[in-house]
Amino acid sequence: MKVNFKFPLLAGALAVFSLSACNDDSMENPALPEQQTENAKIDQPNALEKVCYYVDQYWSSSSVLTTSLQNSTDTNFMNSQMTKIASLWGRSNPTLRFVNDPSNFNSTYNAISYSTGKIYYGYAIYYDAKSKGGDIVNAMILAHEYGHQLQYIFGLPSVSESTARPNELEADGFAGYYLRRPNGYNQSSFAQIAAAYEFAQSIGDYQTTSPGHHGTPPQRRSAVRLGFLLGQYDLSASAFDYNFFYYYQGVLNGTYKMGKNSQYPEIDAYMSQYIDELKKIQNGEISAEEFKQLK
Ligand SMILES: [Zn+2]
Repeated sequence: MKVNFKFPLLAGALAVFSLSACNDDSMENPALPEQQTENAKIDQPNALEKVCYYVDQYWSSSSVLTTSLQNSTDTNFMNSQMTKIASLWGRSNPTLRFVNDPSNFNSTYNAISYSTGKIYYGYAIYYDAKSKGGDIVNAMILAHEYGHQLQYIFGLPSVSESTARPNELEADGFAGYYLRRPNGYNQSSFAQIAAAYEFAQSIGDYQTTSPGHHGTPPQRRSAVRLGFLLGQYDLSASAFDYNFFYYYQGVLNGTYKMGKNSQYPEIDAYMSQYIDELKKIQNGEISAEEFKQLK
C-alpha cells in the first residue's frame, strides 16, 4: 500500500522531468529516410530520455512513450514498415512511437493516428497481433493508421457521414492497397490479407450509432477487398480516394453503372469484373470463411 501511495508522486515528478525530453528535437523529429532504427537509438543519449512518463489523455497515466518495442527485431520491423508505407505514398515518415505500460499492459491495446503527424502504437496491440496473426497484421494496422495520416494531409475522405465510418473504411482500403502493392507489402494472394483482416477487424467496433463507428464487418471486408483490387494500379492518395468511394458507394447504394468511371476507364474495365463480388461481400452473402477463399 505504501508503494502504491507513493507511486503517483514519483510518477508526477518524473512526468515533469521527462516532458522536456519528450519534446526535445531528437524525440520529435521523424528519422531521415536513410537512417536505420539503430540510429534512432544512438540519437537517444540514455534510457531516461528514451522514455516519456506522460503520453497524453488517450493513454493510461502510467503509460510511457518509447522509440522501441521489446526487442530490436520488432522495432526494426515496424520502423521499416513505416518507411515503406509512407514512401509508397511519396511521403517521408511520420513520427512513429510505441506506448508501453508495464503496470497495466492491456491498457496499451490501441493504436492512434494524430493530426499532428504522429502515430502512437501500443505494446499490447502489437504483441497480440503478432502472436495471433503474424507480422502482416501489424503491417495492416500500421497501414490503416497511416491511412488516417493521408486523410489529414490531403483533406480526405471526400465522403462524409455523421460517424467516422467513411474515414475508417477508407483507412481499411488504404491498408488493403498497401498489402498488395509490389513496392508495399507485396502480398499478391488475397488469402493472407483476408486472414490478417479478420484479426484486425476484431479490434474494430460494431456500434453503428457511435461516432467512432468503423463500419460493420461485411462493410469493412468489402473495403479491404476494394483496396486490394485497386492495388492493381499505382494511384495517388486522391486518386485512390476517388476510386475507392466511386466503387464503395456505388455498390452500397446500387448507383454503380458499369463504364461510368470515365476518369479511369482502365480501372473501370478491371473493376467491372468484381462489382458483383463486392456487393456480396458488402451485404454478407459472402461469409467470412468464403472471404478468405477469394483469389
Ligand atoms: Zn482507424
